Amino acid sequence: MTAHIVLFGPPAAGKGTQAKRVAAATGMVPTSTGDMLRAAVAENTPLGQKAAGIMRAGNLVDDAIIMGIINDHLVLGDAPDGALFDGFPRTVAQAEGLDSLLKERGEEVSKVVNIVVPDEILLSRVESRIAETPVAERRSDDSSEALEVRLVAYHEQTVPVMAYYRSQGKLVDVDGTALIDTVTQSILVHLSE
Ligand code: AMP
Repeated sequence: MTAHIVLFGPPAAGKGTQAKRVAAATGMVPTSTGDMLRAAVAENTPLGQKAAGIMRAGNLVDDAIIMGIINDHLVLGDAPDGALFDGFPRTVAQAEGLDSLLKERGEEVSKVVNIVVPDEILLSRVESRIAETPVAERRSDDSSEALEVRLVAYHEQTVPVMAYYRSQGKLVDVDGTALIDTVTQSILVHLSE
């Protein structure tokens, strides 16, 4: 059965960076709802116009919109080695939606890798990322204010997703404060178990 993986963790934990590395090492298809939304904003589509302000402030986009883009973009037949979800699901409703979407195909999420990083470290990471990135290349939500809102959304709406997957016996933790290479290796070890 195709194994689909969720990379889970707070904002700025390194999910995007690790998704690219793990995808390169495994042939899995990286699937980031944040990237899909940023593309919609850049193309100024109706979805992008709806999402831009919500993203800039650091809030979560509606579950119905997110499930819509996952339905539109996720061509599971194109991911024989599995999809590697990054930044999705972020609510229990999205996790349930993903489960039923995969179930229709006789597939499932096989593992959820939780990249653990304490809040204080996330804040200092975002501050140094802002300082090191030219203004034109910054994300609209690269600000301490938006990060604080994103952290509240994470703790209130996304953390319950951990219990959802833990009760299914699928959640594994990796230390996201380790060196980038070490984190990648730890994820790959978990995926091979
Ligand atoms: P990310 O690139 O994953 O950090 O996402 C950037 C922003 O896009 C988030 O702060 C949300 O505003 C929005 N977003 C991305 N993925 C989701 C999702 N699964 N559910 C709700 N909002 C999302």
